Amino acid sequence: MWTYADSRDAIADALRLSRAMTFKAAVAGLPQGGGKGVIMRGMGDPPLDPERRRGALLDFADTVDMLDGRYMTAEDVGTSDSDMTVIAENTRHITGLAVERGSSGDPSPWTALGVEEAVRVACERVWGTGDLAERSIAVVGLGRVGGALARNLAAAGARLVVADVDEGKRRLADELGADWTDPAAALLADVDVLAPCALGADLNADTVPALRCRAIAGAANNQLADESVAQQLTERGILWAPDFVANAGGIINISVELEPEGYAPDRAEERVRAVGGTLRTIFDEAEAAGTTPLAAAMTLADRRLAEASAPPRAASLGAPPA
Ligand code: NAD
Repeated sequence: MWTYADSRDAIADALRLSRAMTFKAAVAGLPQGGGKGVIMRGMGDPPLDPERRRGALLDFADTVDMLDGRYMTAEDVGTSDSDMTVIAENTRHITGLAVERGSSGDPSPWTALGVEEAVRVACERVWGTGDLAERSIAVVGLGRVGGALARNLAAAGARLVVADVDEGKRRLADELGADWTDPAAALLADVDVLAPCALGADLNADTVPALRCRAIAGAANNQLADESVAQQLTERGILWAPDFVANAGGIINISVELEPEGYAPDRAEERVRAVGGTLRTIFDEAEAAGTTPLAAAMTLADRRLAEASAPPRAASLGAPPA
């Protein structure tokens, strides 16, 4: 749920995000495609009182239900697990409900775990070790994922610079002993690693020349303003973990819920930690092909999508002519 200038912006965002979800599921090797639902709020709309919010969520649930299981929804920016409980009143095609209901719960801590793995693998590439003790890391956006990530990184001994547009998040910075600054300064901070965890397109022709980090791995979707930015980052010697690889932990956790055996946190943790191995493969392939991690990740996604849409082997042989 987000505020957009007009419906064209909301549709463009939904299409961009659903494309990223397709790549995300393919690279993570999940048997799902990609989709994204957007509940649009208009600029200048009055604040949603609880009753109108509930109405918007139930309308959204009806739309999801009409797709009859071809799309399943879950939490993302602007929605919480209590919102999911409302949506579940009108559709069963929903994931990420409370663990007590046999579901997989809020995906955000799992997304944070996957991003932490990505940060470690990026550090391993640049400095030869994934140990985060004394590594300096800027986390931009201290929401559900960024907040959980900052906690994990602080527990691993990293020195943090953190920022959010919401001043209320300063409390978490104090709790973690992190330096609090404004989002623009955090983006360009003199740190080892940048973790963009707010909304998209922070990496663009204006910001990339001014970056002072050596590696980037974060939760935000669509971090690059456009695909050419991946090449600019490589030319600047900055290692970028493609967002749809680094932030797949949440959807990986959700996919465990859809497995025949049902949800199990141990299985989820093992699968989410595999984000690190996937990223290693992508960095290796990018290096071998002399290309960017983005190009290597998209090649992997395309390969998996082609395999998934290929006819079964026996059928492709075709029946003998009658
Ligand atoms: P959230 O709404 O809980 O947190 C976003 C945070 O970013 C908020 O604290 C907000 O105040 C802050 N913010 C917004 N604009 C900002 C700006 N310009 N500068 C600094 N801070 C800003 O959302 P979330 O679930 O933590 O998701 C964060 C990002 O990760 C989003 O891009 C989301 O699409 C992506 N993501 C989330 C998940 C998940 O499991 N929740 C999974 C994959 C990707």
